[in-house]
Amino acid sequence: MAEQVETATHCPYCALQCAMTVTAGHRHSDDRSDAVTVTGREFPTNRGGLCRKGWSAAELLHHPDRLTAPLLRGADGVLREAAWEDVLQLISERVQAIQAQHGRDAVAVFGGGGLTNEKAYTLGKFARLALRTSRIDYNGRFCMSSAAAAGNRAFGVDRGLPFPLEDLDTASVVLLLGSNAADTMPPFVQHLRGAQAAGGLIVVDPRRSATARLTEQGKGVHLQPTPGTDLALLLGLAHVVVTEGLEDRRFLESRTRGYDDVARGLARWWPERVQGITGVPATAIRATARLLARGARSGADGGPGAYILTGRGIEQHADGTDTTTAAINLALLLGLPGTLHSGYGTLTGQGNGQGGREHGQKADQLPGYRKITDPAARAHVASVWNVPEDAIPGPGLPAVELLASLGRPGGTRCLFVHGANIAVSAPNASTVMDGLRSLDLLVVSDFFLSETAVMADVVLPVLQWAEEEGTVTNLEGRILRRRPAVLPPAGARSELWIMQELARLLDAPSLFSEDPSTMFDELARASAGGLADYSGLDYAVLDAGVPAYWPYPSGSTGTPRLFLDTFAHPSGHAVLVPVSPRIDANAARVPAPLLLATGRLLEHYQSGTQTRRVPELLAAQPGARLQLHPATAQDLGISQGEAIVVTSAHGEAHAVADLTTDIRQDTVFLAFHYAGSGSANLLTGSATDPVSGMPEFKTTPVRVSALSAH
Ligand code: SF4
Repeated sequence: MAEQVETATHCPYCALQCAMTVTAGHRHSDDRSDAVTVTGREFPTNRGGLCRKGWSAAELLHHPDRLTAPLLRGADGVLREAAWEDVLQLISERVQAIQAQHGRDAVAVFGGGGLTNEKAYTLGKFARLALRTSRIDYNGRFCMSSAAAAGNRAFGVDRGLPFPLEDLDTASVVLLLGSNAADTMPPFVQHLRGAQAAGGLIVVDPRRSATARLTEQGKGVHLQPTPGTDLALLLGLAHVVVTEGLEDRRFLESRTRGYDDVARGLARWWPERVQGITGVPATAIRATARLLARGARSGADGGPGAYILTGRGIEQHADGTDTTTAAINLALLLGLPGTLHSGYGTLTGQGNGQGGREHGQKADQLPGYRKITDPAARAHVASVWNVPEDAIPGPGLPAVELLASLGRPGGTRCLFVHGANIAVSAPNASTVMDGLRSLDLLVVSDFFLSETAVMADVVLPVLQWAEEEGTVTNLEGRILRRRPAVLPPAGARSELWIMQELARLLDAPSLFSEDPSTMFDELARASAGGLADYSGLDYAVLDAGVPAYWPYPSGSTGTPRLFLDTFAHPSGHAVLVPVSPRIDANAARVPAPLLLATGRLLEHYQSGTQTRRVPELLAAQPGARLQLHPATAQDLGISQGEAIVVTSAHGEAHAVADLTTDIRQDTVFLAFHYAGSGSANLLTGSATDPVSGMPEFKTTPVRVSALSAH
């Protein structure tokens, strides 16, 4: 019997990055027989807890669908196994030919928020120095971009939670806006118990979600606004705070700018007017604002404080940046950010959603969370990369624009995809798939044949979470070590190795190493002096187990709590920004009577490439189910479990009717984890937030009918 080895690592899925122990035997890469088990590990964020996804994560490692050799599409259109040296040579030759004919920006890269820090960093460098293209962006554009844009303009920096998660434990009031954490990251819920015990958990969600149910039995308040009206609701709450004199005047005067303009704009958002827009009773708006203010005052006095936390529900909108800004304005009016017992934060979604947006795989960014247009940032990164500054291209296209450019005249002819399944996860999915089909070359790196990989000309099999070294940055901005616990299949390679080999074939003018610690050390140097500064970190520091929150400049011990003394704007002040609704969600229903919100389920993660392959998770949630209210269903002649068709201006999806009173009569909900005709993104469109580039995922007008009547 093989010796059992325990490895301390973290979950492959969401941003909570629960600590886990992987137990496996020593085995050879061609021996697939040893059982691998996962158990929860004590850690401040998950306290030994895991959700169903985490518990079953080991099932991905030995899955029969695992890709174990590169695949190359032949002239007959069939993907067949090929040798690594042949496919890499072919890719480099095709890239050079495409760029010679169509220009450097005809080649693009699409990354992912699940890639380790080392991979995210190297991918940005690979795009700019090996492929010499400006076109790189990633799927975090669909996830955190509105929160990031709002955080940057208010605070001068964006770190999901600018405080340790444990700080929430002592809160008396927590306002959760658009987050169903009880389903998406269940171990997080234990940090809400203090607020529940105080009757101060406030959940804003059009659905009576698992998280909304945590407010029941006197534990808090559930506000159920019309989808797309969160901004009006937040303005109403802020109106009450200002008109009733509940603001923290001392905080506003000493630590912020912009109060007067914001306060002036709030005058017209009285609760009765907001009730007419949102459907939330004016009495509830007033009571909620007063509850928040009580918590804020208690926190300012050193007692249990108040926190405002946002999630994708209010961020994934074509006005997501302004809506998140309204949440931050409310927090600033109450004096929450940058204080010891209260705060504002956003709950990052993807596994490395925080790190993924710091190291340069965004169209407008260089490592260290630097702007690619900033001459000083360019000069610093060029010096670390040992290249002239003009070797670094300028800003590229945000994700939706990049995907819209696929195959278009003057657009993208070749796309590299790492850690994303855009055929399922991108909005307006049928148009994206048309774009993918029109490419001259599609190269996908994945460990399963995802719906995107199946369309590729070349598929590169890569390593999984428990097979390689690396780091991720969790929702607190805390850098964690992922460690190898099992050997990978013999034919799979790390993405760092792939980029190293392609960079060599493409004569890249800088270092590309397959060694994660080498790339981490370079990332740390490149980040030095930036907002997300990792320069005091290396694997030895991380392995010593110190809590490592960025910024962690050389010689420091990191920053668990940001903003206690100063905000990151040059003035040191936080900025309140006036915002008001541009989009009338009620008018949006004119072309179709119902508003579709897409979102996640407990059992699945992202596009489902991984979790749909775990039998127990698939058995629990096997396919697309549209949640709709029984009264709505009755009007439409639809019964529970009936096959239905959902139609929007962008496409059509098929699902099974799931009747529930947990949803408003004007709203339907469809999870986005499924492919084929059940893909929710066949229905979503390409409208984006003008500041962040975030697509509209939560208020798509749709019609619903029984399949039998269609
Ligand atoms: Fe993994 Fe997130 Fe579940 Fe924790 S909550 S086990 S990190 S999926």
